[in-house]
Amino acid sequence: MESVSFLDRSCLSRRQFLAGSAAAAWTALQLGACRPSERPHRAAAVQTVLGPVAPQALGATLMHEHAPTVDWSELYATPTAPLDTLRERMLAETAGMLNAFHQSLSAEDGPGAIVECTPIRVGRYPQLMADLARRTPVHIVASTGFWCEALAPQHPWAVRLGIEPDGAGKMADLFVREISEGMEDPHGGRGERFTTIRAGAIKVGTSALMRPSEKAVHIAAARASRQTGCPITTHTTNGGGLEQARLLLESGADPGRVIIGHQGHMDDGKNAEAVDYHLKIARLGCYLQFDRVGAGNYDCEKQARLIHNLVAGGFERQVLVSHDHVPYFYREFSAETKGSGGWRKNQADFTIVTTQLAASLEQLGVSANQIRTILVENSRRVLAF
Ligand SMILES: [Zn+2]
Repeated sequence: MESVSFLDRSCLSRRQFLAGSAAAAWTALQLGACRPSERPHRAAAVQTVLGPVAPQALGATLMHEHAPTVDWSELYATPTAPLDTLRERMLAETAGMLNAFHQSLSAEDGPGAIVECTPIRVGRYPQLMADLARRTPVHIVASTGFWCEALAPQHPWAVRLGIEPDGAGKMADLFVREISEGMEDPHGGRGERFTTIRAGAIKVGTSALMRPSEKAVHIAAARASRQTGCPITTHTTNGGGLEQARLLLESGADPGRVIIGHQGHMDDGKNAEAVDYHLKIARLGCYLQFDRVGAGNYDCEKQARLIHNLVAGGFERQVLVSHDHVPYFYREFSAETKGSGGWRKNQADFTIVTTQLAASLEQLGVSANQIRTILVENSRRVLAF
């Protein structure tokens, strides 16, 4: 990464510059007037697993998916699931699912892209993702970050960093390294080896109530995002999005870099459809992501109603969509001995958003232009840094 000077004179007014006053410069920084000066001075790009691409190269983007695998074994301190015998089949079948998504797009809305939201050491294999990306026109953006304690224990690496002195700082350094140099290679000891495949998003998450380990991950994510410009994308568990947004912003994140995820069901912790709650998050300037479209409590009509509410409030530039599909999930994650029979293959349909949700939105009167803003323009904007 290019080195960045702490104080960029181009951000200061002529008077401040001529006065040469450090105090004036400091005030400008504190007021946020120079925020972008902390970012590298280069054209913004979307960082895919095959390298940076211009934002305009991305068509419709599914902002929260997993491909090809998720494996919780390390969270349960058991050996990771075997990949080798299934590797080829996983790649071929997942590429087929992504190609179906790509083929659902019109020429001007392609090639499609996905953000792969699997965080560090829960089945995130950088080389596997790069190999997948070579088999499909769909762009793949990978994530750094640690997951939460909602469905499994926190990763021991995150726990350890979270309780060390300046653990959030060390965690932020790890995220920055994964964004600017390359993601950790999970074949080996923690932090021993790194690939040259970079992350293009930071994934964080919370349980129904935010745990101390999750708080440390959020603070680290805000720092890493502030330093690199990389967007943060969140997992929520039946609410907690507003709390996440407030903590991330208090910790220095730019609201335009924050995506509050898994919206669309029980987001205020009480109601199945929490329309006022969504508006509160939108007014902070953060993105809201409806990223389980078509699943269980997240049927297309309901998701379309909630999105329509935000569009009616003038917030269509802050809405993102996806499915949260996992083509291969290892279900025997707590077993001490792992066989390839523990993999569960899901027939993931990556076209629900671009076909059924788009149709439901249209029926509610959301215009074709507004739908394109949600599917294409918003993701280009938020993923570029
Ligand atoms: Zn997910």
